[in-house]
Amino acid sequence: MGRKFWIIAILVVLICSGYFFWSGNEPSTQVAATLPAYNQPEVPSVFPEPGKTLYRMSLYLDINTRTLHGTTVLTTSNTTGQVLSELWFTIYPDAFRNSKSTPAPAAAYYAGFEPGGIEFEEVLVNYKAVDYIKEGVSLQLTPTEEILPGQDITVQMKWKAYIPRLSYRYGYKDGVFMLGHFYPALNVYDEQGWRNSYDSAFGDPFCFNCADYLVRLNIPEAYSMVSTGSVVETIAEDTGRQFITVIAENVRDFAMVIAHQYQVREEQQLGYTFSVHAPNQVQAELDAVLQETIDILDFFSCTWGSYPYPEFKVVFVPMQGFRGMEYSGVVFLSQDLLRPGADRTHTRFLLAHEVAHQWWYGLVGNDQVREPWLDEGLASWGAYKYLNQQDQTSKGSKAAGAETNLARELKDMYSRDDYYSTAYTGGESFWWGLEQELGEEKVKQVLRRYLANYRFQIATTEDLLRVIQQEAHRDMQDYFNRWFNYENE
Ligand SMILES: [Zn+2]
Repeated sequence: MGRKFWIIAILVVLICSGYFFWSGNEPSTQVAATLPAYNQPEVPSVFPEPGKTLYRMSLYLDINTRTLHGTTVLTTSNTTGQVLSELWFTIYPDAFRNSKSTPAPAAAYYAGFEPGGIEFEEVLVNYKAVDYIKEGVSLQLTPTEEILPGQDITVQMKWKAYIPRLSYRYGYKDGVFMLGHFYPALNVYDEQGWRNSYDSAFGDPFCFNCADYLVRLNIPEAYSMVSTGSVVETIAEDTGRQFITVIAENVRDFAMVIAHQYQVREEQQLGYTFSVHAPNQVQAELDAVLQETIDILDFFSCTWGSYPYPEFKVVFVPMQGFRGMEYSGVVFLSQDLLRPGADRTHTRFLLAHEVAHQWWYGLVGNDQVREPWLDEGLASWGAYKYLNQQDQTSKGSKAAGAETNLARELKDMYSRDDYYSTAYTGGESFWWGLEQELGEEKVKQVLRRYLANYRFQIATTEDLLRVIQQEAHRDMQDYFNRWFNYENE
C-alpha cells in the first residue's frame, strides 16, 4: 500500500474522531507520531525540532472582509535543554499595520494605504490561557508555568489575519490573495537565544525551523488554492464553499495563494509533480515556463542533491516591490514577468534564483535577518550556473566582483541597494571567487557536503566556512578574511 493510502487513512480517522483541530484539553501528539519521519540524525538543542513539531491549522477565508479566520494547534517538545519561561513567534501580518513601517512600497497600495495585521482572540499554552505581548512583528507568550526540558508543548491560538489591498507577498489584488507568512510561526531558539525577527524595510526577515503542517482550508468554490505541500482531500459544501486539506512534511514554512480564475499547467516528471499557475487573462507561454522549471529543478538536484518533496509549484501573482519570493515547495513570481516584451533572460534568471532557494533557505535554512548573504548569494550564483550551463555563456569565468563585507545583518544595511549589493551581488561574488580558488569541482563538493550536513536544519556562516575549510584541504583563512569583517559592524 502506498503512502497516499496511509495519509488518507489517517485523515479519515482524525476527521471521524471529531478532534480535528480545536480540541479542548486533549493532548494530541498522535498526529506527529503518525506522519512519516525523515531519516535525520538526532541533533541536540534544536528548537522547535523538525519531526517533533506539527502545525494543525484550520482556516476560513472571508473574501468580503478579506479576513482569514484561523485556529492553530501547534505541538512540539521543549528540546532546548533548558527551562523555557517564554515562547516567541513571528507575526508577519503585523509588519503591515502602519504606513510608516510597512515593508511594501507606497505604489503597491493601489487603493491607498490600508492596514493589515493579526489579532488574537485566545491563546493557550499547555491548555491554560496565557498573557501575550506584541512587539513589532514578534509575539511573546508567557506560560503560567515554566516549560521543563523534554516537556511536551501545545500552543492553541484563535486568530484573525486582515489582508490589505496590497500587491505584495502578503496582500490582495484582482481576486488574488497572496499569503506568505500569514500565520503565527514559532521562532528558533538556539545557543544565541531567541532568533526573533524585526521590522525591516527590505529583505526577508525570517528564520524558522522545518515542521510538519496539516492545514484545513475553507474557501469559496469559485476560488482555487496553490500552497506548500500536497492537497489530500477536497470536499464541496452545499453552501458554495469547499474544504481543502493539505499536508506538508518537514517544510521551512507554509505559504499559499487563493485566487479567482487561475489557469494551470501541470506535468509529472522526474518523479515530481510540477505546476505553473497564472491569472486566466495572461496570454503567455506557460508551457515554456513549466519546462524551464523542470530543467532548473533537475539541474540543481543533479548538482547539489535531490529535491525531497513530491510537488513543486510556480505561481504568478500581482506582486510589486520585488519580483520573486521563495517558500517551501512553492515560489511566487510577479506576473509582470509574463508581459509581452519582458526580458526573458531576466525572467529565467529570477525563476532559477527562486528555485535555487529550495536548497538554500528551504532545505538548508539560515537566519535571513542576520546572515542574508548565505541564501541570497547562493541563489543568485546558482541561477547563473544554471544559465551558463544552458547557454554556454562565460559569466563563470569572470573575475569575482569587488570584495564586500558579508558579515552584516539587515539592520546594519543602509538601504535596499546596500542590501542587494551585499547579500546578492556580494554573496554571489564570494562563490565566483571560491571557484577561482578551488575550482568548480571542489566547490560542488563543498555544497554537496553543506547540504548533507545541514539538510532540514539551520546553518550559519561559521558552519559553511568550516565545510569549505574541510573540503579545501588547505588553509582558507586568508580568503575568508577578505569577505568577513566582524569588527567594524
Ligand atoms: Zn532570493
